[in-house]
Amino acid sequence: MLWDHHCHALLAETAKSDLDRLARCLTEAPSTYPLEDLHHGVVFHQALAVMASRLDVSCETAAVERALASVDYADYCQRIFNEAGYARLLVDTGYTPMGAWSIDGMEKVLGIPIRKILRLETLAEKALTVARDFDDWIDRYQRTLKEARHDGYVGAKSIIAYRSGLHVVPVEETRARAQFVVMRQREATRLVDPDLLNYLLYLATPILMGQNLPLQFHTGFGDPDTDLLQGNPLLLRSYIEEFVSQGHRIALLHTYPYHREAGYLASVYPGVYLDVSLALPLAASGSSRILHEALELTPLSRLLFASDSHSRPESYFLAAKFFREGMNAFLDRTVTRHQVLASVAENWAHAVAKGNVERLYGIE
Ligand SMILES: [Zn+2]
Repeated sequence: MLWDHHCHALLAETAKSDLDRLARCLTEAPSTYPLEDLHHGVVFHQALAVMASRLDVSCETAAVERALASVDYADYCQRIFNEAGYARLLVDTGYTPMGAWSIDGMEKVLGIPIRKILRLETLAEKALTVARDFDDWIDRYQRTLKEARHDGYVGAKSIIAYRSGLHVVPVEETRARAQFVVMRQREATRLVDPDLLNYLLYLATPILMGQNLPLQFHTGFGDPDTDLLQGNPLLLRSYIEEFVSQGHRIALLHTYPYHREAGYLASVYPGVYLDVSLALPLAASGSSRILHEALELTPLSRLLFASDSHSRPESYFLAAKFFREGMNAFLDRTVTRHQVLASVAENWAHAVAKGNVERLYGIE
């Protein structure tokens, strides 16, 4: 049984036999990146093999495409999620691929309970489209945040790493007001100003803490829109020092190639959790090694499972498969080489698959 604490929506039936779309969803490359090169990735071929064996055809793309076109897609998705052992999904509603199922639709198709994560920057951008002025904007942003737990959200997420980087700092209200005026003059709808982004993050944090809602941060790699240099979670140090001592809990998402740095943070600060999602499944050939490196310092009570998958069920399948393989190898080694009791290793296996997510998000 796996509880995935960060993923996105699945594509509906209409795109079921589109293997180019599959290749595009197994990479962080932009749509201008040559498709031909995506077909030379290990993860693409492993996804083909997953499909071929479930559809009972050969691994050639034409054969897989033909079989997919006539498959009962809802049944196919359900089988794959069941086989991978998914029992709960926490879906980030801030990114939904074109042509995806709604949360309710996905829940019905998969038969798996889904809980929602609220994305801060998306919320602020939505409020911006209707706000009369700065005060009205902040008021709308705060009002939704204060109702988050009540509205069914179990956590929030920030993509500030994508916009102005993880070196976050508190910003005075007067400065935020001035930047709001500049943004309005430019008729900008996308939030990129560091002062506004930082102001909104620091405003949200105590509101989330008041509802015992953890905050996820995008860290590490992503599409080329992110400056990977600014995605190092070590840059969050002053934010962590200020808030985790007061009981705030954060989850560092993806972390690769900074999974060791993230492990260090989880090993010295209370309330810091991490995952190696996205690298599992995209960095297929290194998946076990990456997981093991993340666990060099991370206590087993701080590692979470996430796939960060979207669109295609095969991506969720591979994330779960790589995680399970990596964890089994890791736990075996702790018993044989580090004299960890088998019963302790067994408890750890449950914690990383489910218990840690359950505790962090306060869900059952
Ligand atoms: Zn994501």
